[in-house]
Order: sequence, then structure tokens, then C-alpha cells
Amino acid sequence: MQRRPGFPARLPGSGPAAVRSTPVAPAARNPVAAPPVGVGLDSAAVRARMVQKLAAGGITSAAVLQAMGTVERHRFVDSALVNQAYEDTSLPIGLGQTISKPNVVARMCELLLGAEGARTGGLGRVLEIGTGCGYQAAVLSHLAREVYTLERLRGLHDKARNNLRPFRLANVHLLFGDGMLGYAKGAPYAAIIAAAGGDAVPQAWCDQLAVGGRLVAPMALAGGQQMLLVIDKTPHGLKQSVLEPVHFVPLKSGIA
Ligand code: SAH
Repeated sequence: MQRRPGFPARLPGSGPAAVRSTPVAPAARNPVAAPPVGVGLDSAAVRARMVQKLAAGGITSAAVLQAMGTVERHRFVDSALVNQAYEDTSLPIGLGQTISKPNVVARMCELLLGAEGARTGGLGRVLEIGTGCGYQAAVLSHLAREVYTLERLRGLHDKARNNLRPFRLANVHLLFGDGMLGYAKGAPYAAIIAAAGGDAVPQAWCDQLAVGGRLVAPMALAGGQQMLLVIDKTPHGLKQSVLEPVHFVPLKSGIA
């Protein structure tokens, strides 16, 4: 297991070297890419159809449907895949990783909004493990007050920063590091969401979850089948529910 070097992430404003965690760098030097041909112009209509399908498939949260209808998923995938951006399919994002299906993103976000804390005071700080291309972080930015998202692969951390820059989402904090350790500086979290599946829930995640908070993560259970897991942190301890089978990339330790 690789040891974690000095953690480069900083909370915005926490010091002069906040580069790694600054969500939106000055745009002047980085002009926004032209919308991909074919999808860009009418992407709102294509997204609206995707949202209709999500609703027909059982997503009921208006906030989630609105967020899914707002975030331009085609801007997070390679140009060769743009025409599949609004299909309910996972797509490669480089370095052997994938962006989750819209259906799965919506489902997990909806589960997060079911957290006790979210029902009473809205969703506060959320920690995402596995930034990937940054798509889910962008969706979460519409649902939570602050989004801290960790990626262990530098190439994808950089890609997410480039992808997110045009959106200017001031509440998304991109962090480079091993998500298995969570991110103690932002804790406690109202919700933690993992986009990669391991064999056990790292202790740090449970420790960093607020009382009333909820963790949603894929996890391989006995027999190796990966299932979606919900863990609620109640004043009396952790309460776990096992939901449907899922297929996520593996949760790995260390950075690369
Ligand atoms: N939410 C992402 C999905 C990316 S796939 C999106 O919308 O694109 C899952 C990601 O988890 C991969 O990029 C993988 O590198 C990352 N990952 C796996 N183990 C990790 C860990 N321990 N810490 C941080 N990221 C991790």
C-alpha cells in the first residue's frame, strides 16, 4: 500500500497554496471549449428526455431531477462519446475508470437527500469519494451547500478541474488524495457518497459522518456481489441497509 505523501489539498482560503482545492480557476487563460457538435445546441432537450426517463424509472426527488436536467453531462465525456452522453450507460473517462450511469447518480443523490440531517436542514457538507471526471460532483453542487470531492488519480483530478472550470461552481472543492482516509478537515459531513466499491467501509468515513448523516456506497458483500449500501449515523450508532446490486470500479488505496 502506497503511503500518502503530504496532503496537497487545502480548503479554499485556508492558505496561499489553495491551488489543488480551488474549484474554479480564473477563466481568462482557459477559454471555455466550444460545445460539441451535435449535442451542444439542443442538449437541454436531450437532457429533458433523460430526466423524463429518470422519473419514469422511479426517481421522485424534484431537486435531483432538476440537478440532472441542469448539469451538461456531455461536457464531461470525450468528444467521441458525446452522442451517448445522455443514454443511461456508464462511459469510459480514461485511466480505466468510468462515469456512472445517470440513473445510478440520480439514485444515489436521492438517497443522500433522505438523510435525517438533509430532511431537517437541507444537505450541508458532502464528501464524495472518487471525483472521476467531476460529473457527479457537479450534480451534487446543486443539492448540497458544500461538496468536497477526493480523487486518487492525478490525471482524473486534473481532468475534473478542467471539466468543472466553465461551470464556476464555487461550492465544489476538488481534492487530490486517498479517499479511504476521508478528508478530516471538512468533517463532520452531512453525507458521504462513494463512486468506487471496496470490501469494507473505511473507518474514517464513519468517523467523519455527522450524527444524522448518511453514507451511500457500493460495497462487495460476502460472495463478492457488489451492493449499494446505506449507513445512517444515528445518536444510537450506525444503522446499515443493503439495497440493490451495483457495478462500480474498485476502491483502491494510495494515490497514483
Ligand atoms: N463520480 C465520478 C465517478 C468516477 S469512477 C464521475 O462522476 O465521473 C470512480 C473514481 O473513484 C475513479 O476515478 C477512481 O480513480 C476513484 N477512486 C477509487 N479509489 C479511490 C480512493 N481511495 N480515493 C479517491 N478516489 C478513488
